[in-house]
Amino acid sequence: MTRLNAAVIPVTPFQQNCTLLLDEASRRAAVIDPGGEVQRILAAIDQQDARVEKIVLTHGHIDHAGGAALLKEALEQRRAAAGDAGSVPVEGPDPRDRFLLEGLAAQGRAYGIADARNLAPDRWLAEGEELEIAGHAFKVLHCPGHTPGHLVFVSTSVPFAIVGDVLFRGSIGRTDFPYGDHDALLRAIRDKLLPLGDEVAFLCGHGPGSTIGEERRSNPFLRGLGAA
Ligand SMILES: [Zn+2]
Repeated sequence: MTRLNAAVIPVTPFQQNCTLLLDEASRRAAVIDPGGEVQRILAAIDQQDARVEKIVLTHGHIDHAGGAALLKEALEQRRAAAGDAGSVPVEGPDPRDRFLLEGLAAQGRAYGIADARNLAPDRWLAEGEELEIAGHAFKVLHCPGHTPGHLVFVSTSVPFAIVGDVLFRGSIGRTDFPYGDHDALLRAIRDKLLPLGDEVAFLCGHGPGSTIGEERRSNPFLRGLGAA
């Protein structure tokens, strides 16, 4: 199996880390969390000569999902123009984030993000399912708290995960929304992320990535959760 590379494209006023995951040899790819600025994402796809097969969402917030409908449409139009009628499915998040996806246009108006559209994924994902990205297998973990349907994707072959807004370098996801649940977020980190192992590197929704070990040792929000 060849390498899976990650190109991070910060998008929206929230500087959300939209990520292009790309198989180095085949150029098969997936876009994770296209929150907006779809033209910039398309430019990155072109620069990498990537063939995007799907769009994957960790959760339903505007800065992660707001550009998904527009990007899907743009990629399918490109395919059609090239004589390929294949669709570009949107996969994830967990259906408990449906209310957020159905409110993306309203979220966009509230946060000044133009072009955000409501979205119905082609496939909802759930805890324990397998997600294929560019020929590489990922396991799906349900990690609620930041949103009710938040998912984390963990590679089954290399120590790497996409954790969205669950865990950051030196911080954790905010839970001060009406539907937020701080205790659930800490439980998800303790019971699902820390046991992945210290060597697991992750990309997150905002700012630089880190490793599980680095956060277990130094993240002040994880103090008292107990060493794995
Ligand atoms: Zn979020």
